[in-house]
Order: sequence, then C-alpha cells, then structure tokens
Amino acid sequence: MRLILLGPPGAGKGTQARRLVEKHGIPQLSTGDMLRAAGSAGTPIGLKAKAIMDSGSLVPDDIVVGIVAQRIEEPDARRGFILDGFPRTVAQAEALDRMLDRKGLGLDAAIELEADAEKLVARILRRAEETKAAGQPARKDDDPDVFRTRLDAYRRDTAAVTPYYERRGLLHRVNGMAPIAEVATAIDMVLAAVAEA
Ligand code: AMP
Repeated sequence: MRLILLGPPGAGKGTQARRLVEKHGIPQLSTGDMLRAAGSAGTPIGLKAKAIMDSGSLVPDDIVVGIVAQRIEEPDARRGFILDGFPRTVAQAEALDRMLDRKGLGLDAAIELEADAEKLVARILRRAEETKAAGQPARKDDDPDVFRTRLDAYRRDTAAVTPYYERRGLLHRVNGMAPIAEVATAIDMVLAAVAEA
C-alpha cells in the first residue's frame, strides 16, 4: 500500500501514520523527521534545512524531493509506505508522480485530515506543554508565532495539493478534529474501501 497523509500541521498525520505502521507493517516516511535527523547529524543540507524549519517556512522542493527519492529506494519501502508531510507543494506532488512512474508504481490513496486552524493552534500549544512536562525539549517550530507561519505556508503552498489528488480520484477526507480513535476508524474504513475497489 502506498498512501499519503495530507492536512495542516498539527492535524494528527504523525499520530495516525505511526498507528498505520503497526497495523500494515510498512514504514512511515516523514519528511519532517528526515529533515530533523539531517539537522541533528549536522550535514550541510540538514543545517540549511534546520534554519528554515525553525522559522516555520518550507524547505526548498529540490532538497525534500531528493531526500524522498533516496528513501523510497530503501528495501523496507518496497512493500509500500505512508508519506507524512510530503508532498507539501504541487511541484513535490508532480515529482513524486515522476518517481513512482519510473518504477511502474502508483498511489493507492491520499487521505486528508481536515482540521480547523484556530483549534490547531490550541492543540499545538498543548503538544509543546506535554512534551516539556515529559522532560523532552519541545519542537522550536511549535512556538505559537512559528506555528502560525507554518499554517500560513500550508494555506499558501500546500492547500493546492489536495485538489491535485482530488482530480486523480485518489482523495479521501476524514475529520481530523475527532478523537484519535475515531480518526483511526475513519481511515481504516477508507483503506478497506480502497482495497476492495
Ligand atoms: P513536520 O514535521 O511535517 O511538521 O515538518 C516540520 C518542518 O519541516 C516544516 O515546517 C518544514 O519546514 C519542513 N518540511 C517537512 N516536510 C516538508 C516538505 N515536504 N516540504 C518542505 N518543507 C518540509
């Protein structure tokens, strides 16, 4: 299964992707996680990306596309994958299509977690507090001002990705503001319907 999770920052893509990893035994490919790992490793690309991520803006398409192109070549991605946080621009979506076309592969579904922007700000503040309470460092980009920049980037660049998949008949919408278990059930129903089709 090759699946894309779409939706604004804080909509719960990471949480749902991790659950799907357990259930389907395919890897979660989170470009945010990959970029943060590159930043921690101190690679030149990682350091460049870190400064951009800390400001809440999007990392340039060529960097992110290059990282994903490498990652989907790894053996664990052969049976499928869950893309979380990618594609975030139409150019990235087109690049992904080209990558998969070259391999003779297609996507099974793009699931959008729909969410209310203002409620997301409250949700992300809670995430930062919970992380701190657990003794872990909060993500710099979960700061309320930076988070608003991330929401703006979503509206400006990423919102156009949803119609891209809608036109291809691949888009399914799920209410991302529902409790985690309900979102999970809704996603499972979409995937069951896709598998039967
Ligand atoms: P995330 O963990 O998905 O919320 O991503 C955190 C940050 O990483 C984003 O705010 C961007 O700066 C960067 N990032 C992650 N994925 C992408 C992408 N597909 N395109 C551009 N920037 C990205």
